[in-house]
Amino acid sequence: MSIDKREAVKKMAELLRAGAVMLPQKCPVKGCNLPLFKLKSGEIICPVHGRVYLVSSDEEAKQVVSRISLATTLENLEKKVVEILSEASEAPREHGYRELIGWLEVLERILKIKKELSTKPASETR
Ligand SMILES: [Zn+2]
Repeated sequence: MSIDKREAVKKMAELLRAGAVMLPQKCPVKGCNLPLFKLKSGEIICPVHGRVYLVSSDEEAKQVVSRISLATTLENLEKKVVEILSEASEAPREHGYRELIGWLEVLERILKIKKELSTKPASETR
């Protein structure tokens, strides 16, 4: 994949103007090598490839991968629970309140874990 340098430079300028900080690290994508930018939100992005995860060791890389797959699992689980809840709200008599509250609690927990995952950097979960 070739990278449009002019597009990249334009994007970098935009990032800087939006308050992003240029980092000494380079994008890990093969053939990219553009400097990475840290957004005010703490996200690290490449001007071309979007969000990247900086890791300094194999172990850390594994952790990041498992966090991503956990996030995907939670995402799927959340969809399922929302489906169940919307079905239940259409036919409330078939479902007991207790059951619904149980599912709401599950949903609440999923959202809580998702929030924790998105706010804590990988190195702090050790
Ligand atoms: Zn890149």
